[in-house]
Amino acid sequence: TAVAPVLTSSGRVEPLATLTDAALDVPVLGGARVRHVNLDLAASAPALDAVARRVVDVLPWYSSVHRGSGYPSIVSTDLLESSRDVVGRHVGARSDDTVVITRNTTDSLNLLASAVPGDVVVLDIEHHANLLPWRSRRVVVGRSTINETLDALRAELASRPAALLAVTAASNVTGEVLPLERFAALAHEHGARIAVDGAQFVPHRRIDIAETGIDYLAVSGHKAYAPFGAGVLVGRRDWLDAAPAYLAGGGAVDTVTADAVSWKRSPERHEAGTPNVLGIVAFAAALVEFESLGEERRGAHERALRERLLTGIRSLDGVRVLGGFDDATDAVGIVTIELTSLSVGLVAAALAAEHGIAVRAGRFCAHPFFDRIATRRNGLRASIGLGTSSDDVDRFVDALTSIVTSGP
Ligand code: PLP
Repeated sequence: TAVAPVLTSSGRVEPLATLTDAALDVPVLGGARVRHVNLDLAASAPALDAVARRVVDVLPWYSSVHRGSGYPSIVSTDLLESSRDVVGRHVGARSDDTVVITRNTTDSLNLLASAVPGDVVVLDIEHHANLLPWRSRRVVVGRSTINETLDALRAELASRPAALLAVTAASNVTGEVLPLERFAALAHEHGARIAVDGAQFVPHRRIDIAETGIDYLAVSGHKAYAPFGAGVLVGRRDWLDAAPAYLAGGGAVDTVTADAVSWKRSPERHEAGTPNVLGIVAFAAALVEFESLGEERRGAHERALRERLLTGIRSLDGVRVLGGFDDATDAVGIVTIELTSLSVGLVAAALAAEHGIAVRAGRFCAHPFFDRIATRRNGLRASIGLGTSSDDVDRFVDALTSIVTSGP
């Protein structure tokens, strides 16, 4: 079965679920092949086996949605709409929220940006996907603590009205998790709504937007163990129903005459063209699998591995773990380090070429944040998740130790 024990009696941590890349052997220098260690799950996580099986099951029903009359069309339409419902339910959508199927988080935030009736206040800690789409953005520089950062946001929101506060649930650089209830309350006290970038949080933890007071949530399927190409924007429908169609075309309209168009409400209004049925079915399947694995097991698995990773890394000279907030108490499975005397690009290349280990080097599409918290030009990020084992973490720590000690 896909599920293995989290902690064995020897203290080793087994994968919590099987990913489609679990048995990949990759070539390394010298001609050998080694088992691939994927510590770049934060970029894109390979599909869960359960997701791949679901995709294979529904593939024969591939048929036109919403407009076809044949039986496979009816099945495909039902798969699309029931998957939309699963995704909405998983993230705690309110009954009157809309769930728009998009390509990914970037697409979701750009869609929302096209509908926001005013300024957007945003922190500098964001991924570019949650910075650049906001046309009328007021960027607040994060402080060394979450408390002080909330004070800075409060001052900005009090100084001039804003329509929206946009914030990430978890940083893609440090993994740090923000207390979203406090951000939501702050936005609402100042008459603003809150949009949350859930790209890095949803693959690790369940979020309930109704309970947390979140107005909009953007997520990508490919970071949550589903294939590329489908994401969602979930949230309040009034702005989205008042906004011009994000994509113009078939499916988004009720009637069209030579000189007039009557646009549908959300979600159809913003989903012109044939939707990514398999993508949203796969995304929903991943979320169902998360639910059957259970929050506690997912949390325990990830905490154990992140601790192991940090313990291994911190014992090395010339390595500094990046953090944004001194008072952050929670993080998802992402750790970024900088190296005082080695190029992280070379180290990442050596990890791949000599050890078969995938990490990410760079500034992680979060340039303002990275440049503020780092002392070097680039960092090296290791990210873990459901398919990661303690062997993977140990292989990374051993390889990094040998590279740092003897050079790439
Ligand atoms: N937001 C965060 C926090 C991310 O880490 C990423 C991707 O790395 C994105 C948004 C963009 O996601 P996508 O490329 O799926 O649109």
